[in-house]
Amino acid sequence: MNQAVLILIKPDGLKKSLTGNILTRLSETKLEIVAAKMVRVSKELAVNHYSHLKEKPFFGEIIKYLQGELHDRKKVMALVYWGEDAIKKCRELAGATNPEEADPTSIRGSYGRITTTGVYENVIHVSSDVPDAEREIKLWFQPDEIIVDLYPTQEIVKKELRSNIWVS
Ligand code: UDP
Ligand code: MG
Repeated sequence: MNQAVLILIKPDGLKKSLTGNILTRLSETKLEIVAAKMVRVSKELAVNHYSHLKEKPFFGEIIKYLQGELHDRKKVMALVYWGEDAIKKCRELAGATNPEEADPTSIRGSYGRITTTGVYENVIHVSSDVPDAEREIKLWFQPDEIIVDLYPTQEIVKKELRSNIWVS
């Protein structure tokens, strides 16, 4: 069954110059990239993304982590991969959440670490199941940023919308 999955290259992955490497590893899946962009992560977006972990003692730290405050890299790369069994394929390549427990050949096993304060810096995020993927993709992307039709949309007309355009 074809599925969509949200992948984030987290600030530690960017700081360690792992973007090319991670994308090469993910290309082993033969999945299709249907959206990609760099994002400056607001606190609101980070809190929404990790809302299921609100009660955890490490919540505050992972919000700072996703916002790039631990790495002086205030951005993440967000991508949507699409294809057969996309979630399982990407999670397998990513490896376990705890980088010390992850298969050493996986992305997290190869490049992740646990900080002295206990945060799992595991270089990428991968949605964990189909409902999570839908929730996360809708949080990070607008319909027009994705080159396939993943979920139902409706057309609206925005009036007096302020935006920047190129000068000449
Ligand atoms: N995390 C952590 N300590 C934990 C569990 C999670 O630092 O004990 C961090 C880690 O960066 C992880 C993120 O919180 O990727 C989200 O946790 P989740 O349980 O959703 O794991 P994932 O789906 O990313 O494997
Ligand atoms: Mg998760």
